[in-house]
Amino acid sequence: MLTHLESRYLLTIYREGLSSEYVKPARIARLFKVKTPTSISILQNLVLKGYIIYMPRVGVKLTSEGVDYVDNLLHKHRVLERFLHDILGFTKEEAHEESSRIDFFISDKFAECLCRLLDTPEYCPCGFRIPHKH
Ligand SMILES: [Zn+2]
Ligand SMILES: [Zn+2]
Repeated sequence: MLTHLESRYLLTIYREGLSSEYVKPARIARLFKVKTPTSISILQNLVLKGYIIYMPRVGVKLTSEGVDYVDNLLHKHRVLERFLHDILGFTKEEAHEESSRIDFFISDKFAECLCRLLDTPEYCPCGFRIPHKH
């Protein structure tokens, strides 16, 4: 099991890793506005849990378990965004912010049922593809 903060670290490693595969702990520390040793201790937990690999002096990268985890979280995040935007009338920005608060806490079942209710949408309101496993 991951903590909410650890899930945010994985999302950040995923996003930052799109441009340069390995992400430096100091860069992650800057993005989370913490000192590098603080980010390193969280990264070490993620290594122990099998979600990232850590190459000294090179940086961190998601393992395939890490990529699966992020895909599942992005599914929850983006399906919730669609619901908040399309059904409840939130703006794109509001939908993103609200979804970021709750995506981690909803079950896979809830996300899947909500997704089907919305007709398995292809994109979130911001235009990113929604990764469906079902
Ligand atoms: Zn979005
Ligand atoms: Zn789906």
